Amino acid sequence: MAETVVACPKCASKLKLMGDVAGKAVKCPKCATAFRIGGAAKSAGPDAPKKAPRCAVRSN
Ligand SMILES: [Zn+2]
Repeated sequence: MAETVVACPKCASKLKLMGDVAGKAVKCPKCATAFRIGGAAKSAGPDAPKKAPRCAVRSN
């Protein structure tokens, strides 16, 4: 099985993960920082909320 090593963006500790981890959210066991592993993600923040457009004001 494929093994992937990623570095925590905060403490830079190495996390060893098994299998397909692209796009998965993981949590650093050292500093408890949750982050997403890049790979399948496209540009522009994958966590950007796609709701609540600016001009969605609805007066009833
Ligand atoms: Zn960390």
